[in-house]
Amino acid sequence: MSVNHTWDVIVIGAGPAGAMAAHELAKAGLKVAILEKERLPRYKTCGGGLVFRGRELLPISIQSAVEKEFDSLAVYFDKQKQPFTAQRNFPILSMVMRDQFDQLLVQEAVKQGAVLLEGQCLQRLDCESQLKVHTQEHILTTRYVVAADGVLGPTAKLAGWKETRKLIPALEYEVGVEPAVFERLAKEARFDIDAIPQGYGWCFPKAHHLSIGVGLFAPKKIQLRDFYKSYLNKLGIESTTFEEAHGFQIPVGARTDGFTKKGVFLTGDSAGFADPLTAEGLTNSIYSGILAGQSIVREFDQPELAANAYQAALEERLLPELRFSEVMASFFYFMPAARNLLLGKYGQRACEILTDVFTGQTVLSQDLKKKALKKLKIW
Ligand SMILES: Cc1cc2nc3c(=O)[nH]c(=O)nc-3n(C[C@H](O)[C@H](O)[C@H](O)COP(=O)(O)OP(=O)(O)OC[C@H]3O[C@@H](n4cnc5c(N)ncnc54)[C@H](O)[C@@H]3O)c2cc1C
Repeated sequence: MSVNHTWDVIVIGAGPAGAMAAHELAKAGLKVAILEKERLPRYKTCGGGLVFRGRELLPISIQSAVEKEFDSLAVYFDKQKQPFTAQRNFPILSMVMRDQFDQLLVQEAVKQGAVLLEGQCLQRLDCESQLKVHTQEHILTTRYVVAADGVLGPTAKLAGWKETRKLIPALEYEVGVEPAVFERLAKEARFDIDAIPQGYGWCFPKAHHLSIGVGLFAPKKIQLRDFYKSYLNKLGIESTTFEEAHGFQIPVGARTDGFTKKGVFLTGDSAGFADPLTAEGLTNSIYSGILAGQSIVREFDQPELAANAYQAALEERLLPELRFSEVMASFFYFMPAARNLLLGKYGQRACEILTDVFTGQTVLSQDLKKKALKKLKIW
């Protein structure tokens, strides 16, 4: 394929952040390339639990990529005999396999005019007078770069960022079980808070198998695999018909040294936008991709204004939410005795609030601020 060497924007990475940024940019008529080191569809380690709020942000129906939908969720704690559950009359969680889901989003960006360059790995970035993107085959010039290359992608480092994100380890298994066991576990999307100290386990049913994982929110070296094994026992899984293990990291603390530099905009995991309390990363990847795209479109001729617009858009909702979640996470994972005491009393309410956050009906950082101002009679 002959490749055009001059672009308005090059998006590095064809995950949800990259696809959404490219979609916004191409829709506005800009010349956009998406650079992806793999060939699509490609597996991505992920529970594939897309919350309603994230799904609502998408410009297209993703029904064809949804394997199961849950209009309820269940949160298990060892100290509670019954799980806390919440129910809504729409899908709180849509279960997707990321190969199909990501490909669908990228196809939509391509429909808008973006060009997908697959099997092209970013290797070097010149950020001095003109932005130059080097892959193993090409040198491409561009006005802007959107970094959407995930938690381990090189763009941010190549553009001069230090590592300031908080990265946590997580293990994901794609698991086949006997039909009777699948039928039992496929009835709910469940979170098990005591599956691992300072973390949680999840069991997300897909069409024909289970995505089971454990994540640790503390910067410790432990054998996650042992916790996964004991989580299988907790779920009553005695044997599996297949098990594919995938280890990965989740950035649950945003970068502290900004999200733009010399025409490079960081989005999604490359910026560190997964939620510090739940590690849910899809919504903010989609959201930040859209915001980065819109900011560049709005101020295309003035990179400094585009950078300011992106920062301001992030400050409206995404960053305050992450800060609030960070405080909640330090209480939730690191003060278990106080947490359990409170959950004994208010657990069901907390489960409802978590569900409202997943569905977008509550923005905790905004709602609590309003309540505090009301109390002080300032609002
Ligand atoms: C075990 C686990 C379970 C998770 N479960 C959930 C969940 O259930 N729900 C949820 O909301 N979130 C979940 N997350 C988080 C979620 O997967 C991420 O937040 C999300 O994928 C980030 O999207 P992104 O677009 O920023 O990056 P990614 O989806 O990681 O996409 C980055 C893309 O960039 C490409 N790339 C990387 N380097 C280069 C390069 N040098 N050149 C070109 N291309 C490159 C990659 O191949 C990839 O396609 C989970 C994460 C893990 C690790």
